[in-house]
Amino acid sequence: MPLKCLNDRNIIYAFNYDDDAWEALRATNKSTKSLRTACCGAEVTLKTSHLGTKYFAHARKGPCVTAPMTAEHLLAQAHIIEGTQAAGWLPEPEANPPISEITPNGREWQADVLATNGRAKIAFEVQWSKQTPNETLHRQERYRASGVRGLWFFRHLNIETSKELPAFQIYFNEDTRIFKVQLDPLHYMDDELKHTPPIPLQAFVQGCLTGKLIYAPAIGLTFPMEIFTKNKQCKRCLKMTNIVTRLKIRISDKLPGCPNLETDIYRAGIQPYVLEWLPAATLRELKIGKLKVRKSFMQVERQASYFSNGCFHCDGIQPEYYEERSLEVEHLVSKVEIEFTEALAKLFSARFVNYWWFNRA
Ligand SMILES: [Zn+2]
Ligand SMILES: [Zn+2]
Repeated sequence: MPLKCLNDRNIIYAFNYDDDAWEALRATNKSTKSLRTACCGAEVTLKTSHLGTKYFAHARKGPCVTAPMTAEHLLAQAHIIEGTQAAGWLPEPEANPPISEITPNGREWQADVLATNGRAKIAFEVQWSKQTPNETLHRQERYRASGVRGLWFFRHLNIETSKELPAFQIYFNEDTRIFKVQLDPLHYMDDELKHTPPIPLQAFVQGCLTGKLIYAPAIGLTFPMEIFTKNKQCKRCLKMTNIVTRLKIRISDKLPGCPNLETDIYRAGIQPYVLEWLPAATLRELKIGKLKVRKSFMQVERQASYFSNGCFHCDGIQPEYYEERSLEVEHLVSKVEIEFTEALAKLFSARFVNYWWFNRA
């Protein structure tokens, strides 16, 4: 109810009024009492929240159960409306399904802001209060059944974002009165734990509606992959050899803000990829020993067989146990181009790969 009301039978929107027009509307309504709430048809009073958002409220307490919204929620709604307008889409606050879709159970949903462009419909939801993951999934399903795409902004994000459920954390800065959207959980980038910079809510919404929010864009692209090695002395033949310590897929080179991915050769399932990326000729050229399964001689490794680095000269295993403890400096020795496939993405945790990317360009 708060951002719109009825004037006779016409819907009017609080965000279309500047300060003067708002005062004029207030004066008219005082004498005519013609404004009515959209929820229950009660008399309306004009208000401004302490964060400066104009809105309509029930003139007096009545039987209507429409819950009042927090000032933060109202302001977030107003920002979403601005972003929607900037994208050239039509915003409708507190939107319900069309009459044709209203079932005996009543209104199946009410969107904080429904953005429409022809047949495309996106419901933006601000969840300032807590909501259980089950409730979120249930509400998302009701949108889906109506042909509406639901996109969520949570103050308390408690659900995994996915292709079917775009859900993002928002923060509010009391001093600047700006909401910002945080796309991703913390991630490692270039050896540092980082967030990608958050995006102001209006700009984010505008971007969502103009094709800038993309799901898992890395899949299907090729990226440079950096190969890092250490130069070590082989315990068996005592000659110096190179071992592969780390592979870094530079996702951020093509998709700024997307975290890079790193792996060693021991990650479960990565071995066939490593063999494809580092064929025998490349290993020879870089004076790296063969990569293959060998039996460890070490008690601490339980003499297990595993995919290992070997000596370039004698093929002796270079145990993982020593690698973790060695003090040799790591060198970036080469770069190769690799294709980033869906299967490869699955090997890395979904939260680092299958996530939404916002194109800031
Ligand atoms: Zn009401
Ligand atoms: Zn050796």
